[in-house]
Formats: sequence, C-alpha cells, structure tokens
Amino acid sequence: MTAALQAVIVGAGPAGVRAAQTLVAHGVRPVVVDEAPRWGGQIYRQPPAGFTRPKRTLYGFEAGRAEALHSAMAGILDRVDYRPDTLVWSAEGGRLDLLCQGQMSTLPYRQLIVATGATDRVLPFPGWTLPGVYTLGAAQVALKYQGCAIGARVVFAGTGPLLYLVAYQYAKAGAQVVAVLDTASFKDKAAAVPAMLRQPALFAKGLYYLGWLRAHGVAVHQGVRLLRATGGAQVAAMHWRDEHAEHALACDAVGFGYALRPETQLADLLGCRFAYDGLQRAALPERDGAGRSSVPGVYLAGDGAGIMGADAAEWAGERAALALLADAGKPVAAARAAELEARLARTAAFRVGLERAFPFPQDWAVSAPDELLVCRCENITAGELRQCVSDTGAREMNRLKAQTRVGMGRCQGRTCGVAAAEILAQACATSPDAVGRLRGQAPIKPLPFAAKVQTQEEAA
Ligand SMILES: Cc1cc2nc3c(=O)[nH]c(=O)nc-3n(C[C@H](O)[C@H](O)[C@H](O)COP(=O)(O)OP(=O)(O)OC[C@H]3O[C@@H](n4cnc5c(N)ncnc54)[C@H](O)[C@@H]3O)c2cc1C
Repeated sequence: MTAALQAVIVGAGPAGVRAAQTLVAHGVRPVVVDEAPRWGGQIYRQPPAGFTRPKRTLYGFEAGRAEALHSAMAGILDRVDYRPDTLVWSAEGGRLDLLCQGQMSTLPYRQLIVATGATDRVLPFPGWTLPGVYTLGAAQVALKYQGCAIGARVVFAGTGPLLYLVAYQYAKAGAQVVAVLDTASFKDKAAAVPAMLRQPALFAKGLYYLGWLRAHGVAVHQGVRLLRATGGAQVAAMHWRDEHAEHALACDAVGFGYALRPETQLADLLGCRFAYDGLQRAALPERDGAGRSSVPGVYLAGDGAGIMGADAAEWAGERAALALLADAGKPVAAARAAELEARLARTAAFRVGLERAFPFPQDWAVSAPDELLVCRCENITAGELRQCVSDTGAREMNRLKAQTRVGMGRCQGRTCGVAAAEILAQACATSPDAVGRLRGQAPIKPLPFAAKVQTQEEAA
C-alpha cells in the first residue's frame, strides 16, 4: 500500500540535495528548508550572488564535486519547494517551526529527512575569546564565502583534517600562515595509515596538503599542547609547548578547532533515541544502515547524525530518500540501496583511521586551568564547574546546567557543551559518556525578539 507523502528535508548540503534529487526522480515534490541563502552546505558553500570567483579557486580539488552538486539542485528547482534563508528552530511530531525574514510559521510533514550537518568541536584555551581568535570553520567560511582572511599573520591550531586544509587554503590565497600547531602527533598519524589507505585518494589529498605547507615554508608542529593566546584589543601571540619547551608565535589571528561535532538538536527535539559513540566521543542519534531513526517517518543523513564527510553525506542522503520512498510503498532499486550502504560501510572504516590520526586530546580537561572561560555566553569558568561538582554533587550535564547556567545562553551548548562535559567527567573521575548530554531545547538557535508569528490568514 502507498502511504501519503508529504516530505520535508532540512538542510541543502550534500546530504539534503541528493535526498531531494532522489525524491524528485521518484515523482515526489519535497520541501527543502535551509537557513543558508544558497544551497551547497558547508563544503560547497556558494558565495553571495554577484561574486564571480571561479569554482577552482573556491573549492580546489573539490571543484568538480561542487559543480555537480550545485547543478543537481539547480536542475530540480522547479520540482521542489525550496526555502532558503529559513531556520528550523523547533520541531515536534509532524510539524516544524520556521523563521524566515523575521516571520515565524509552521510546516507540517509526514516524512522528514534531517540533514543538518556539523559545526566545529571547540575545546577552549585561555585567551580564546580575544578578538582575532576564530574557529577553523569560521576562518574557512570567511575565505570561501566572502574572500576575506581572518588576519594577515595567522596561526592555525587544534587537530583534525580541517586544520591542514584551512591552513593550505589560507596560504594558497596569499595569507601568511605563521604555523600549524597540531595536538595530534606524528606517531598517531603513522598508526592510522593502514585504516586510511582504505580511501587512498582522500589519504593522498591529506598528504598533499601537509607536503605543500612544508614545501612553502609553513612550520608544522605536531604533538603540541596549546597554552594560551595573549594580546590586548586583538590577539598578538599564540603560546604552546612541545615536549622540550614553551614557545610563543606572534600573530594577528588564530583559527582553531578539534574536528567537528554533529548538529543533533532537531533529532533530539523529535525524540530520536541517542547512543554514545566512543569513536566520535559524542552521543549520536541512532540510525539503521538506511538512515531510519528510532522515530517512524524521521530519517537522518549526513554529518548531522555522525561525522562521515561530504561524499558519504551525498550517499547517505540518497539512501535515506530511498528508505523514505520504500517505507511509503514506492518501488525503489534495491541494488542501488545496497551499493550505497556498502560505500557508507567502507567510509566508516576510513573514519576509524581519521579518528586515530587526529585523536581527541584526552588530557585536555585535566590541564584546563580553573580560570579558563568555558561558557562565554554565561561567563562560566572551568573552576566554577568543578566547584559546582564538589558543592552540589552534580554528576550529569543537565544538572550542571541547572546549577551553573552552562549551555543556557545563545549557543545553547553548541559551542561550550563538549568542553563542559569533559570538565564534568574529569571532576567526577568518570568518562564523558557517563555524564550524559545536554537535552535539546527550542529555540535551537537564537530568535530575534522582533520575530512575528504568521497569522492563519497570512498562512492561507
Ligand atoms: C564550517 C565547515 C567547513 C567545512 N569545510 C569542509 C571542506 O572544506 N572540505 C571538506 O571535505 N569538508 C568540510 N567540512 C565538512 C563537510 O562540510 C561535511 O562533511 C559535509 O558538508 C556534510 O554534508 P551535510 O549535507 O551532512 O551537511 P552540511 O554541508 O553541513 O549541510 C547542512 C545544511 O543544513 C542547514 N541547516 C542546519 N541546521 C539547520 C536548521 N536548524 N534549519 C535550517 N537549515 C539548517 C545548513 O545551513 C547547511 O546548509 C566542513 C564543515 C564545516 C562545519
């Protein structure tokens, strides 16, 4: 029997676009909602209309893939209800709450594909709130979207594949990259080689970025620890240490991050079951190989359900759409579905290698000083979080939030949540999975006070 279809996709990145394309190919007209002004997501983010930089400059090796994804969406625009500049700020059974140009509205759905992507995983260091200190993602967005650099002499720090990629992109664009400071060691990377060879092309790209940086005189230090950023009105130096000594690098900007964290808030509000993933050191919404969540009619695709990268996001988006269609009683190609699942399984094996090559710095919490600002929205330090544990016996993230307001500000824990959980686990001498996760709360991103609710007449 064929069920009624009323499909909505949240996110027009690689996962969302391929999901939309698949639904359209099967005669379904989905609604595609994205808070960004143009489709493409993070990796294939498009510059504002009127900017004319060639794709090769914007996306480097990925120019062909970017072009393919952009034209895939352009080719179906007349067969989707595409809603750019539209934030989904809340969700509950069968309906989404939207904000577009200051106007609130609701959008009903029967089937929903959540393809909301990821953001930087932030582990703060003293001085991280100084002007001139950005996350790696923000540094890249400035370059890709607007053709701006975050500074003229930039230090890139933290760990993860994005660290080397963004440093390479900045150096190639003409900025002076003072150094790359990687908390992962050369040994970590050597141990990860066998698993990373499962995707030789991606592995080779990583080696190329590293080799290019070194060949162009960019200092790359591995196995370091970040100590602090210092400066006055603007960051002026980044301090770090290796096994021998402390060092300081003069700079006017810092880009930092420790890989990515999935944007899971919508899945959470929708009641999807979560499970802790030791590899990604995060609680993730559960999904089967096809992208079905624990909630009937809700499908999860791309980095929003677990970091797998852009190619995997495209496959997961298509696979989730096929699952949605099959569940609604529409015939789909079983062989294609199986092929996509096999590709995703191969990528998962490669991800194990990446996590080994760029491991989470396990000693971060223990070395975070008490005066370190963890939650910048509510101005809460590591010491205050530790004090709360000893004063109140809090052992769970939502308890810590209720007692201290950590994660209660504008970012809703999207920036500070990982660090706060690490500090709590360290203070309780337990592991991060034992302290739980911040429950999602609407609005998942800030709403303006001036936002207007759409009347029934306006909606009609
Ligand atoms: C800042 C940043 C830069 C990156 N750059 C690179 C890179 O250069 N190379 C690389 O290989 N990988 C990069 N990555 C990783 C890469 O982007 C992902 O692997 C890939 O884009 C995942 O695709 P996706 O469709 O799952 O999510 P995304 O591409 O992130 O797309 C998600 C989309 O959902 C939308 N969205 C999210 N939440 C909402 C909401 N509540 N309401 C409405 N819309 C919403 C977003 O606007 C976005 O367009 C980057 C990641 C980040 C965070």
